[in-house]
Amino acid sequence: MNKGPSPKGSELRSVRIRTALLDHFDRTARDLPWRRDRTPYKVLVSEMMLQQTRVETVIPYYHEWLLRFPDLEALGAAPLDEVLRAWQGLGYYSRARNLHRAAREVNERYGGQLPSTRRELRTLPGVGEYTAGAVASIAFGLAEPAVDGNVRRVLSRLDDIEKPRQAGLLQRAGELLDPDRPGDSNEALMELGATVCRPRNPLCDVCPVAEHCRALSAGTVGLRPLRKARKPVPAVTVDVAVIFDGNDRALVAKRPDRGLLAGLWEFPERESLDSPVGALEEEGALESVFHAFTHLHATYRPAVLRLREAALSPPVVRGRPEVRWLSLTRTGEIALPAAQQRIAAAALDWLRRR
Ligand code: SF4
Repeated sequence: MNKGPSPKGSELRSVRIRTALLDHFDRTARDLPWRRDRTPYKVLVSEMMLQQTRVETVIPYYHEWLLRFPDLEALGAAPLDEVLRAWQGLGYYSRARNLHRAAREVNERYGGQLPSTRRELRTLPGVGEYTAGAVASIAFGLAEPAVDGNVRRVLSRLDDIEKPRQAGLLQRAGELLDPDRPGDSNEALMELGATVCRPRNPLCDVCPVAEHCRALSAGTVGLRPLRKARKPVPAVTVDVAVIFDGNDRALVAKRPDRGLLAGLWEFPERESLDSPVGALEEEGALESVFHAFTHLHATYRPAVLRLREAALSPPVVRGRPEVRWLSLTRTGEIALPAAQQRIAAAALDWLRRR
């Protein structure tokens, strides 16, 4: 690893990096909708959506969201079901639930105005170190660093650090902040990581800070930061029942308010069904649907069943007290996670071709 320059030289290097980053950002920053109007609410929404989701995916959701929930008051007043429905397709639904809870808290505790300090922002549901720093700097112009995965990679390479620590990264990102433009400084670092200093095949030839990059001069770019070996992801197979009544409506059940996909709807698992013998008749099987969660790979095997007319009531779904019959042409009425939407589409197709 290279030895750093003297303290004074190190300060000068930071200023040069910061200036080069901002110049590059001013020339090349992508024109993204949340950069056009940086109100605190819009910055918060975009930051929550961008955690774990790509920019291109987020853009249409961001526009739609602001039409439905133009401010914290509207978001806090909306029922959770509606919020989850608006989030449908973005994945990682805990972000939507947290945003909703955060809106309610801000409305109650701060009269609908998002607090500006990092410390207060951190107390809101779903707002971690990164999001607090991003909102404080971008929306409120405070000199707060924000270290996401992109920034971590850029800083590790710039300073040639194998295993960066969070505290050290925060301090380093702070040193690179322009006190007059802290939000832009943070975004410039993130933007560099997203577009130039990419995880694989970084574009060092066109990088505005290449002359300051220690990993580049040491030939260690591909090794920075050191990647953790990934644990194998467990796989499960879930047998799912698409149960139709006599009017071709399907039975859906609401998941509990906690845990994976909390509060969303699904077709019940076969093993959770409690129904009298002979109440259900098997009519066919649909193609399996695969879904990769971060921590779990699930394969859903849907079967089509019919509630016999003689049966007095729908089957009980253990652990799911809230169930309803739903026409599969109206799935927009409920929040259905991605894999369940694919099952619904296949079941609708099956009904039409029957
Ligand atoms: S020179 Fe290459 S490795 Fe260094 S910061 Fe730029 S893109 Fe990243």
